[in-house]
Formats: sequence, C-alpha cells, structure tokens
Amino acid sequence: VKDHKNHILAYGRALGLDQLCISPIDLPYLYYNAFDNWIKNGYHANMSYLNDRVDEKECHKKDIIHSRMPKAQSMITAAVNYYRQDSETLSPNSNSGIISRYAVSRDYHKVISKKLIKLCRFIENELKGNARFYVDTGPIMEKAYGETSGLGFIGKNSMLINGDFGSWIFLGVIITSLDLEPDVHHLPFRCGSCQRCINACPTKAIVKEKTVNSNLCLSYQTIENRGTIPVELRKSLGNLIFGCDICQEVCPHNCREKPCVEKDFKNRLVDRHISLIEILAIDSDQAFTERFKGTPIMRAKRRGLQRNACIAAGNSGDKLLIHVLKEFIGKTRDHILIEHAQWALAQLNI
Ligand code: SF4
Ligand code: SF4
Repeated sequence: VKDHKNHILAYGRALGLDQLCISPIDLPYLYYNAFDNWIKNGYHANMSYLNDRVDEKECHKKDIIHSRMPKAQSMITAAVNYYRQDSETLSPNSNSGIISRYAVSRDYHKVISKKLIKLCRFIENELKGNARFYVDTGPIMEKAYGETSGLGFIGKNSMLINGDFGSWIFLGVIITSLDLEPDVHHLPFRCGSCQRCINACPTKAIVKEKTVNSNLCLSYQTIENRGTIPVELRKSLGNLIFGCDICQEVCPHNCREKPCVEKDFKNRLVDRHISLIEILAIDSDQAFTERFKGTPIMRAKRRGLQRNACIAAGNSGDKLLIHVLKEFIGKTRDHILIEHAQWALAQLNI
C-alpha cells in the first residue's frame, strides 16, 4: 500500500533514521546459499547464535522469519550514519590502545532500538500491521536486505556500502505483516578491480570477495572471542584493543564521509585512544562499568579489554610497560590474563 509506505518512511526519517528501504521478506537464494556456505566453512567461529540464521534443512531457511511472524510480508531496513571526525592520530607505537570508530559513543543497539520501537508502535497502532524489529539481535541478514532494497552494495570487505555514507552505518530492520511496495533501485557493485581491503587486512581474514573468516578477523577476536587470542594473530593486533576498522578505513567509498547528525553518535563517551596503563589498572568489574557504561565496549567485559590491552602492550615496544605488566600479573589470578601478560613481557624483553 503506497500510503502506508510513505507514512512509514516519513515517520522513520523524523525519528532520525537516515535512510529506509523496503524489500520483500524472501531474499534471492544466492544470499541464503552464501550464508550457508559461510557457516559450513566455520567462518562464524564461536558465534554459534548465528547458526540460528540457517536451518539444518536448506529448504527451510526462509521459514525462520515466517516462524517469528507467520504473516510477514515486508522487510524495512534502516541505516544510520555514525561517522564522526576524529582528531587523534592513530599511531601504532604509542602506549595507548585504539578503540574502533563505532564503539566510542552510546551503544548503537540502544540508540537504534529506541527509534525502531517507536516505528513498530506506529505501524501497529496507526497502520494496524504487525511489526518486530532487530538490531543485530536476531536471525536476520540485514546487509542482504540492505542490498536488495537499494540501501547500498555489499563490498569485497563484506560491509554494506551506502552511496551517501560509505560503510559507516548502523543497520536495523523491521519485519512487518504489511504488504509494502519494495524499493527496486539497486546500487550496483562498485568495487571494480579494487583490492585495497583484501590487501590491507593484517591477518588476511577476507578469504575471498565478500567473505570474512571470523576466526582470523581482529574485530571478532577482540570483541567476541572470550578466551585466548591465537598466538599467531597477536602481532597483527598492533594496538587495536576493541574492534578493527582497517578494511573500512582504506575503502575509497569511505573518503566522502559525512558527519553524523544523531546526537548520541556525535557525542563521544570515551576517546579512541585509551592509555594501556589505565586499562590494566582497572581493578574491579564495577570500575570497568563506571568507565565504559553505555558504550559497546561493555561487550568485551573487563577481562576481554584487559586481555587485548596486554597484547597491545606487548606490541608497543614501550619498555616502561614492563613494570605495569608485572604488577598486573601480581594482581590477577585469571590464567588467561596471566598468559597474555606473560606473552607481552616476552615481546618487550627481546
Ligand atoms: S575488520 Fe580488520 S581483521 Fe577483520 S577483515 Fe577487516 S581488516 Fe581484516
Ligand atoms: S576497499 Fe575496494 S574492494 Fe574493498 S570494499 Fe572498498 S571498494 Fe571494494
């Protein structure tokens, strides 16, 4: 229904969703097949919740969404720009760690969910349809919906690249029972012969075009991996302590970035550079929460961030960090943290 679509788009934009597009609920099969192969290859690493996105029996993959909303007809995909100019230089040899661009302001799950809840209520109350939203929280292939509805194209780095904002966008989706007219203007694949992201990735995690092996990806390792970071990847981490933006920073489509307007993303809660000494000195979960509450950094928990900081300290070449690491070992009983700190000491003593 055209009117419904126009109302939804207008209301969504008024809520601060920068761009919204509509697609049918069933994706072309190539997306299901690509995702299925990604899982079969084990490229999802330990993110077992992603298995949920693929049914054991191939022919039932589409049914996952229908099982959540039997009368689902349309998918609304929303993008919000989060780019903000950062003045710090990201020097690889400083004794501070680098936080990924997206993670220094209020957690996007909270910010975008708040908008999507309102849009769902609007659909339910005013347009009498069912609506259910996801922001990286369910079995939905957001980027595929974004690509099929013209929000962007999936680049070789596997990010959805938007014509206005590049890949500095957060995505959220709403499944609805309303039959909305799909957007048909697709953005063509614009990587051409470029290979920058593939060549720049420090661990060669982009194993082929549009396919990232999470086991090798530093973003996965620093955020989602709860255990030991494989020794062979530790040097590649440099001073990244939460996430990795390298395959986005090098992308030519990200050079025309526009500053975000969303106040929650404009407003930085932490710096992109954080002193490794300060991180290793955090001595309780409460202190960690006070320092990082509201940001996506909470996901790594104190243990994950300190583990990553140990590796960054080992890679820093800064001998002044030796006594900091020794003190840290003296204060913890966590065998994973101790092992990472000892690895760091071995690097600095060479
Ligand atoms: S986020 Fe970093 S490690 Fe992961 S694919 Fe991109 S460049 Fe490679
Ligand atoms: S860096 Fe080049 S190949 Fe990679 S996503 Fe951007 S345009 Fe595509």
